[in-house]
Amino acid sequence: PSLHRQRHDFVVDFVRKNNPKKVVDLGCAECSLLQKLRFYRHIELLAGVDINGAKLSKKKHGLAPIATDYLQPPLHQLCVQLFQGSVTQKDARFRGFDLVTSIELIEHLPLDDLYQFSEVVFGYMAPQMVIITTPNSEFNRLFPGMSGFRHSDHKFEWTRVEFQSWSRNVCLEYGYNAEFTGVGQAPQGHEESIGFCTQIGVFHRLPMNRDGHMLADNAEDHFPYTLLYSVTY
Ligand code: SAM
Repeated sequence: PSLHRQRHDFVVDFVRKNNPKKVVDLGCAECSLLQKLRFYRHIELLAGVDINGAKLSKKKHGLAPIATDYLQPPLHQLCVQLFQGSVTQKDARFRGFDLVTSIELIEHLPLDDLYQFSEVVFGYMAPQMVIITTPNSEFNRLFPGMSGFRHSDHKFEWTRVEFQSWSRNVCLEYGYNAEFTGVGQAPQGHEESIGFCTQIGVFHRLPMNRDGHMLADNAEDHFPYTLLYSVTY
C-alpha cells in the first residue's frame, strides 16, 4: 500500500483500539482520512479542518451517508463537520475532543505558526490523544537524486531526534507523554540507522492535566473557523 494509505491505516487501527467519540483531523485536505473514519460506530463527532476551503469542498459530498447507511440499524448518530480555518487559531468548538490527528501538516507551517500550533492543539484544545505524522529527513538519502525537501511547500523536514525533541518539549509544557513509531520501512538492515519514511508521534494527556482551566466555558470564547459542511447520519 502507498505511504498515504499506510498513514491512514495507522490512524484507523489506533481508533479501533482506543474508541474515541470525538475526533478532529487537522489539515484534512480532501478528507480521505475522514472518509475512512466515518465507518467507526463509536465515533459521534467527526470533524475536519483545513485552511484551504476549496480543497475541503471538492470531495465533501463523499462524506454524506449513502443509501445503505440508512438500512443499518441506527446504533448511533454520527455528525460530520468540515471547517475552513487555520490551526494557528483557537476555536472554542474544538476543546474537549478525544483525538486530534495531524497527518503531514506540521512541516507546512512556518516556525512561528508551528509554535502557535502547539499552543492551540496541546494547550487549548487539550484532547486526550494526539497523533502527529511528519517526514523523517533521515530517510531522504534513499531517494536517488533528491535535493531539498520532499515537497516544495515544506518549511522543514526533521530527523528523528529533531521531531522527538520538539515533541518532548511540547509534552513538558502541556502535560502529555509521547511515543514514537512510523510507517514506511527502511530496507532490511537499515531500520535502525535510518528509521521509518514517515515518523509518527502518539501523545496522551497526563491524568493530572485532566481538569485544565481550558475546558471551562468563558465569555472570551472565539469561533474563528467557518463551518462549510455538516451532515448528521
Ligand atoms: N492530512 C492530509 C492527508 O493525510 O491526506 C494531507 C495533508 S496536506 C500534505 C497539508 C494540508 O495542510 C493542506 O491541505 C493544507 O491546506 C493544510 N494546511 C496548511 N497550513 C494550514 C493551517 N495553518 N491550518 C490548517 N490547515 C493547513
